[in-house]
Amino acid sequence: MIIHKSIFLTILPLLLASRALARDVSHYPYDDFAYAGKYLRTFANDNTGAALALHVDFDFSDDQNTLLKKATVTLAERYISKPVLDCTYASSVKDLPASREAFVSQMKEVFGTKLVEEARIATYIFIARYDQDRGSVGIGFPNLYYDKDKPFPGYSDRHYLYLALNDDFFGKSSYTYGTDTDYWAGVMAHEILHNLNFNHPTGYSGSFITEYGNCLWKNGVQADIPEGAFADRSVEREM
Ligand SMILES: [Zn+2]
Repeated sequence: MIIHKSIFLTILPLLLASRALARDVSHYPYDDFAYAGKYLRTFANDNTGAALALHVDFDFSDDQNTLLKKATVTLAERYISKPVLDCTYASSVKDLPASREAFVSQMKEVFGTKLVEEARIATYIFIARYDQDRGSVGIGFPNLYYDKDKPFPGYSDRHYLYLALNDDFFGKSSYTYGTDTDYWAGVMAHEILHNLNFNHPTGYSGSFITEYGNCLWKNGVQADIPEGAFADRSVEREM
């Protein structure tokens, strides 16, 4: 698979100017600064069709970046695996997509390469960080991926994947799941579904988005997940 690299060169001039802003996750990431970030690697999985170009906040530590890379590999492996989908559908009672087929095809479009000027490029994903919040492990930005007002350069009708992880917990051994790669892959999956406009308006348990994160974490095994394991926040677009 050939991943077109030139798209990354076009955003380099933004890097320095945007560094200070990249940590502000209190607003919908609606400006060009969100394209910036430290490029770690592109993770492609030939079995699932995933191709994710992982970009992260500059202030993550080396250990946290290693954890992010491992979690992204897990995500690319499991995101449409039969055990994970079976488990999700067995556990979900509300907020479901139109159909299982529709969900799989949506996820393939999101995780797969994008055709830009006759080249296939990986899906841009940016992981922001935040701290000083004991009440959430991540932040989701509802419907961001489909926001067409400021599309990712070249996509024309698509934005990018953008989520934030809580530095108070992420990679920290003081937190029960702090260094659990699979857990963070589950958190990332949950926040990515917020980007796709999934939500849990009447509580986490039994909601498709929550069960998908749980099942991806446990690799398709229905497990007893403590309430609050995926407590998160969502930041809506300002009107
Ligand atoms: Zn959520």
